[in-house]
Amino acid sequence: MRQSHLFTKTRREAPKDEVAKNAQLLIRAGFVHKEMAGVYSYLPLGLRTLTKIETIIREEMDGIGGQEIQMATLHPSEPWKKTGAWDNVVVLFKIQSRTEKEYALGQSEEEIVAPLVGDYALSYKDLPLSVYQIGQKYRDELRAKSGIMRGREFGMKDMYSFHIDQEDFDRFYAIAKEAYLRIFSRCGLTARVTEASGGAFTEKLSYEFMVLTDAGEDDILYCSDCTHCANVEVATQKEGDVCGKCSKGTLAIAKASEVGNVFDLGQKYPRELGYSYKDKDGNEQLPIMGCYGIGTTRLMGTIVETLSDDKGMIWPESVAPFTFHLISMSSNDAEAVAFADALYADLTKKGATVLYDDRDMRAGEKLNDSDLMGIPTRLIVGKETIKSGEVEVVSRASGEVKKMTREAVLAL
Ligand code: ATP
Ligand code: MG
Repeated sequence: MRQSHLFTKTRREAPKDEVAKNAQLLIRAGFVHKEMAGVYSYLPLGLRTLTKIETIIREEMDGIGGQEIQMATLHPSEPWKKTGAWDNVVVLFKIQSRTEKEYALGQSEEEIVAPLVGDYALSYKDLPLSVYQIGQKYRDELRAKSGIMRGREFGMKDMYSFHIDQEDFDRFYAIAKEAYLRIFSRCGLTARVTEASGGAFTEKLSYEFMVLTDAGEDDILYCSDCTHCANVEVATQKEGDVCGKCSKGTLAIAKASEVGNVFDLGQKYPRELGYSYKDKDGNEQLPIMGCYGIGTTRLMGTIVETLSDDKGMIWPESVAPFTFHLISMSSNDAEAVAFADALYADLTKKGATVLYDDRDMRAGEKLNDSDLMGIPTRLIVGKETIKSGEVEVVSRASGEVKKMTREAVLAL
């Protein structure tokens, strides 16, 4: 994409009321636009990154047999009233129609998915199964000061699985946990798994996937040696103790961001919403249900928080909006421009994603914008570099600079 065509512009300042680093950088770089506290629109660069994150998640969910669907986000009030969530879930947005009917906006979709699956999977032969979706969620959060990491409208991947017994549920739970760890590592993050009680959902075991960052809202106790960690609220050990899991490292407290979680929901939703299947003997049984969430927009914010420096963002290639940022440094020099145009055409032709800064602007400003946007590999073409037929290749992450021929760049 030619940067001269990109309708967004970088900004020197983020809005004054925006305190979170992730939102400050994303807004300044033109990745997102703030509509109000906790509500953001995604612009071309930000949407490309969010889509890449979603693609990684989709591949991993498909890989464990998840079937993608898209459920409604405007919900009837009845199932929410049946489970008690209409009154108990304080973040639920409730909408009053002019016809006096009431609706809910999806904040999670157990209430919709259990009856939906229950319309089809009526025999033990239809189970196990898992469905997932990637889309918007709405929550009336009190505090929305963490930028895109805590929104009132935000992106989530939510998967739900249904099983005939606990053993089969446990089998799938372990597989899903592994898929989650792959997702976070493919996004360039190290996630630790905590064991926590299921909170409002269930008394059963749940796992939270935590990434250490000062921008997180959770306090966790983590081990210096192994991947063990626990939420401070439920931990039985304290800071400075020797880790109970590996008996080697010591425990320290840090802030972390919960990028995902998995819950054993037991039979609560099938029971309350009337979903049963017929077992081998023709008796009606309640399936065991699990739910598996990942905050897609929180994940994007967490990547910005953990991978950035004082100049801007540093995207791992797996989720970067583009792989290459080609910068034409001498926009008045016809020969240098022709060289850059040709390189852009050739890279694009071979399938590489390139943001081509072809704007007529000072070189220093272009480099500052490039640092802010954080595209992994910068290709600098100028009057000086083309004399030797070379391109300057700069890594945003390490700052390493290499001189390469056009041919070598095309082989990258
Ligand atoms: P938290 O404790 O941070 O409020 P939660 O326990 O309410 O999270 P879930 O209801 O299980 O979270 O939602 C699944 C995932 O969605 C979370 O792990 C988190 O990554 C993400 N998430 C939850 N609330 C928000 C929000 N307001 N904005 C952005 N992402 C969110
Ligand atoms: Mg919450």
